[in-house]
Amino acid sequence: MDFKDLTREDRKAALVRMGEKSFREKQTFRWICSGAESFSEMTDLSASLRERLAQSYSFERAKVELSQHSKDGTVKFLLSFPDGVKAEAVFMEYEYGNSLCISTQAGCNMGCVFCASGIGGKIRDLRAWEMLDEYICCSKAAGKPINHIVLMGMGEPLDNYGEVSEFLRQIHSPDGLNLSYRNITLSTCGLVPKFERLEEDFPQVNLAVSLHASSQKKREKIMPVAKVYPLDVLIPACRRHAERTGRRVTFEYTLIKGENDTPEDAEELAALLRGLNCHVNLIPLNTVTESGFSSSSRAQAYAFAEKLAEKGIQCTVRRQLGADIDAACGQLRKKHT
Ligand code: SAH
Repeated sequence: MDFKDLTREDRKAALVRMGEKSFREKQTFRWICSGAESFSEMTDLSASLRERLAQSYSFERAKVELSQHSKDGTVKFLLSFPDGVKAEAVFMEYEYGNSLCISTQAGCNMGCVFCASGIGGKIRDLRAWEMLDEYICCSKAAGKPINHIVLMGMGEPLDNYGEVSEFLRQIHSPDGLNLSYRNITLSTCGLVPKFERLEEDFPQVNLAVSLHASSQKKREKIMPVAKVYPLDVLIPACRRHAERTGRRVTFEYTLIKGENDTPEDAEELAALLRGLNCHVNLIPLNTVTESGFSSSSRAQAYAFAEKLAEKGIQCTVRRQLGADIDAACGQLRKKHT
């Protein structure tokens, strides 16, 4: 078993069983967070403890298999884990700092028709340490600090809640990377029953909901999850979330040519979200060859945004970062498996 694969609690218990003081866990956690590659680097532990740990546990890191650098500063990484499973992470530069888009599963079971991650379904959930390694590995490879993370890579984070929550606690811990919950955004296709846990466990983590359509009929056509959690369940849950946490909910809306991008769609969306403390992020579709869908024009996107704004809904059209490097969800992995 890999030493990093234990929860912090279990790591502490294991060290105590080895006759060590419990504060040793903090020391090992610091080494994990600083990117140490082996027990032998952990020089504030006794030589004997390092040796015993190496006898009992493996200690392997994720590896960068491939990186693609875009002209706009975006870097897409393809990472591999010790069992050979691959996942993607994307480094982006913004005015407010550097951000990393993290994968929470290899593959995905949600089956959104426009998304490359879902092709082939879910391979497996990622473990908490693997998500932490995405961060550590990519900030090392990028050579720059990362102060924001978005769980918007491959996978559905709320379909892997146990590992995702352990990861969030670890990356937030002042014993290690000390990332503020307010600088973390979790994006979901709308697994409503998990919203309550999220509100209780991580009220400061930002919630982003992939909406992509303003009517039940249109949403069902592109997102199978809409049949399980329809809009008349999802939107009230988002309202509750905003009220309970006092935080603004982000809605992601991918503009697909001829599917969801008319001024009437915008009006319907504005009516759906009226009175909800929210922000709409309009995302021109990154074309995935298999899906048969194409992106709305930039002009169509701005017209849609204008309509929303006119109806009092805050929105932005997302810059299309990394379009020259297969930066959309799951595109890079698909080419290399
Ligand atoms: N499962 C989560 C997080 C991963 S997807 C979710 O559904 O939110 C992150 C975002 O990228 C989602 O909004 C998703 O719908 C969007 N996305 C996926 N494929 C895309 C594509 N080809 N073009 C634009 N956005 C895409």
